[in-house]
Amino acid sequence: MPDISVPAARVRFVLVRTSQPGNIGAAARAIRTMGFSRLVLVAPQRFPDPEATAFAVGADTVLDQAIVVPDLRSAIADCRAVYGATARQRSVALQEFTPREVAPQVHGAALAGDEIALVFGNERTGLENDELALCHGAVHIPAAPDYSSLNLAQAVQVLAYELRVGFLGNPPAPAPHRTDPAASAGQMEGFFEHLSTTLDDIEFHKGRSPETIMLRLRKLFLRAQPDERELRVLRGILADAQRMARLARPR
Ligand code: SAH
Repeated sequence: MPDISVPAARVRFVLVRTSQPGNIGAAARAIRTMGFSRLVLVAPQRFPDPEATAFAVGADTVLDQAIVVPDLRSAIADCRAVYGATARQRSVALQEFTPREVAPQVHGAALAGDEIALVFGNERTGLENDELALCHGAVHIPAAPDYSSLNLAQAVQVLAYELRVGFLGNPPAPAPHRTDPAASAGQMEGFFEHLSTTLDDIEFHKGRSPETIMLRLRKLFLRAQPDERELRVLRGILADAQRMARLARPR
């Protein structure tokens, strides 16, 4: 059996605002059985908790090493690929994949040394729109359309299983060589904030919805996967546009 520990070490499972500690424990067990180990908990309602430990059934190492952070941004800042798992097919401005489609993408990125996050929502509400907006792609388990919401830990299990099967297979063709590293999620967020204020500064919106425009632009730039140098050029252009807008403003 091939060893998947090298790519698996690049993958973190991020559980957002989980309310049931039992689900955290069951998720820990799910990822451990598939050869993964990294769990990040965003503002869990109860953790640590005896129920989490009971449901982890021996996968305590995963729980012991779990990282707790206050918000999704800090959970994914250093990642180069962020996938949000959604129970519903929404009109999200995100490319949507099945777990099987995502596996080779994650495999390739992990072998290239990128950090990757798989993000799961709260049991009742799922991922909020602003949380999904931080993701670069959506993963939907093609469940029964009229009853598509799996238990949280079971969704983690399906994703972890598909990744494992993908990792056990042949690695995908290597991505085209990059001279500069791809920008991280945190750097992309900094760019999007800059872009958004610049659009305000140059009075781009003229009554149209800034949110819709930003979702479109996010999709475009996330698809392009700019590297750090390209992002610096784009931010230079934004800074100049802001400077010109300041000069053009009537005093
Ligand atoms: N009622 C919520 C579902 C929450 S289930 C909703 O409709 O959005 C908790 C989490 O499990 C979800 O946020 C998602 O991350 C994951 N999940 C459940 N079913 C899934 C599915 N069919 N595909 C992908 N992820 C799923």
